[in-house]
Amino acid sequence: MFDKILIANRGEIAVRVAATARKLGVKVVAVYSDADAQAAHVAAADEAVHIGGSAPAQSYLRGDAIIEAALATGAQAIHPGYGFLSENPGFVDAVEAAGLVFIGPSASAIRKMGLKDAAKALMEEAGVPVVPGYHGANQDPEHLSGAADAIGYPVLIKAVAGGGGKGMRLVERPKDFADALASAQGEARTAFGNPDVLIEKYIQQPRHIEVQVFGDGTSAVHLFERDCSLQRRHQKVIEEAPAPGMTREMRAAMGHAAVRAAEAIGYKGAGTIEFIVDGSRGLRTDGFWFMEMNTRLQVEHPVTEAITGVDLVEWQLRVASGEGLPKMQDELTITGHAFEARLYAEDVPKGFLPATGTLSHLAFPASCRADSGVRSGDTISPFYDPMIAKVITHGATREVALKQLGQALAGTQVAGTVTNLAFLGALCAHKGFAAGQVDTGLIGRDLGSLVTAPTVAPQITAQAAMVALNLMGKPDWDQGFTLWGASWREVLLERDGEPLDVGVMLRGAGSALINVDGLVVEALYGASGWSFDGAKAADWARSGAVITVFADYGVAFHVVDPLDRAASAGAAGNLIEAPMPGLVKAVFATAGQQVAAGDRLAILEAMKMEHSLLAARDGVVAEVLVAAGSQVEAGAALIRLEDEE
Ligand code: ADP
Ligand code: ADP
Ligand code: MG
Repeated sequence: MFDKILIANRGEIAVRVAATARKLGVKVVAVYSDADAQAAHVAAADEAVHIGGSAPAQSYLRGDAIIEAALATGAQAIHPGYGFLSENPGFVDAVEAAGLVFIGPSASAIRKMGLKDAAKALMEEAGVPVVPGYHGANQDPEHLSGAADAIGYPVLIKAVAGGGGKGMRLVERPKDFADALASAQGEARTAFGNPDVLIEKYIQQPRHIEVQVFGDGTSAVHLFERDCSLQRRHQKVIEEAPAPGMTREMRAAMGHAAVRAAEAIGYKGAGTIEFIVDGSRGLRTDGFWFMEMNTRLQVEHPVTEAITGVDLVEWQLRVASGEGLPKMQDELTITGHAFEARLYAEDVPKGFLPATGTLSHLAFPASCRADSGVRSGDTISPFYDPMIAKVITHGATREVALKQLGQALAGTQVAGTVTNLAFLGALCAHKGFAAGQVDTGLIGRDLGSLVTAPTVAPQITAQAAMVALNLMGKPDWDQGFTLWGASWREVLLERDGEPLDVGVMLRGAGSALINVDGLVVEALYGASGWSFDGAKAADWARSGAVITVFADYGVAFHVVDPLDRAASAGAAGNLIEAPMPGLVKAVFATAGQQVAAGDRLAILEAMKMEHSLLAARDGVVAEVLVAAGSQVEAGAALIRLEDEE
């Protein structure tokens, strides 16, 4: 075993890898960017090396600086985590040339699986079923559209270099093919520097089922499957193991195909073979096809760890240090069922818009495994993936594990940013999901009901009002008369930018009536603290003007200074501001131009996505305050409309 390793990553995966290393008595070197100087993964390490600026290209993607840090600190091996350099064969070559061990597969195995077209050809040769389609070299649009006709619609256009759901277009009808092709190629060129695509049959009622494999360079075992069908924009949201409805025959067929795929490329370490499965007729051994291989540890590996009892990072370290596979296939078994939900800083009703913010409060219930790279007080910056944590539960049955997940999410407390917590909670309560009827279209179909913000109970708003007035502590009975003497206090609160009408009537120490939009809530102080209409007060946090009450997945209120409210009312709607820090990719507006509500005025690239900035109302552009190519801060004014008449 190694004495010391360097983790070439950040966030939850760096923290998670460090935990296993320490368990094995292996010292850990972290690397960090400017933005991460105080990050959790730095605190989790024995020593840490600064490697550059906040943008990934200046730090976590700088293979040379990372290798230099490993050599300078005496680390013997480099764990790449996922993302960043984890699937970069040039980096593997450089690590090995420096005399260090790369904790992962060989550069040649990564190269073979790096492009989806070449990987599919290779898998076909190895006898692994692949999705019917065209994955040849001819990129002529005529030829590709002919291939799509031959495959039969609907078809999926995929970037051969793709990942993270980018460069992918579903095409339902031949007449839409040309446009979809052009946009997929454009996105692929920008994101991956390679415009090439392949065409695949679009599988109906698709399920994403992947198999965890582990190789020693010659032979491989599989650690069963994970179902990752709950997706939005082709990105995973909740994963589970085993897959609902999995049969003995199907598992054997998929496991066998996955092991064959891994052995065909002499795979070493942890990897995942992703299959697309036709869910329209139940799980059948002739109804699954290879999509791609991810030659690294996967985000969702904890569900496999939960049901197998294997620490996959421990296996990675042991095999990389020269040991054989820790277990043979017949020594691996499944116990119970596990779920993982990805908690993100994102605004779900606004189309899953990534968010940033400082987490003034972050806490998870003890009943779950929470893998997180941030703590209370840490910041979700615009430079990296906005994932806050992975919430993982493990129970004896699927029903139990899902119930545990629902409870763990309900008990998760986040303040300081919007999150997808309520959305994850709604997914846990989804009837079809609970019944195991999963497919990749589930979220899209039922989006409406999954994102409806629940109406906030007046008791929650009442509690926020008491927090705003600093009255949530133990009432001071002696000062009862001065502070608490019957009096009327008005509180200006906003929720989601909407003003709330709240008044508090103090009746004496430890007793108040709160009027919330005409409904009266009674607050009383008793032996177990404050209660609202008889129900115990929820946990809460306050940071400056923001109050978060931890009920209904966290409800955030803004305490408004009465003077501010008057000032902000006038200019509303005139400014188009950057909703988050990012790069202005394009500006379509020019001064003097007449625009209509909903017109696209600019594109901001932030948090790995493009966001269209729209005119909030009809009007005339007074001023364009930025140019394409500028980096802007959140809230920066980009375009100003003339005052309304
Ligand atoms: P998959 O398992 O399908 O490859 P993962 O969710 O495991 O997808 O993420 C794959 C990689 O893509 C990870 O390295 C992750 O950091 C990165 N990633 C996740 N979300 C995004 C995104 N929105 N845009 C680009 N990359 C992403
Ligand atoms: P990425 O590299 O972006 O992860 P994948 O090839 O793994 O790309 O596909 C991502 C997701 O797109 C899958 O999980 C699945 O939901 C969907 N998908 C991919 N191929 C097909 C297909 N042929 N038919 C239906 N859905 C597909
Ligand atoms: Mg994939």
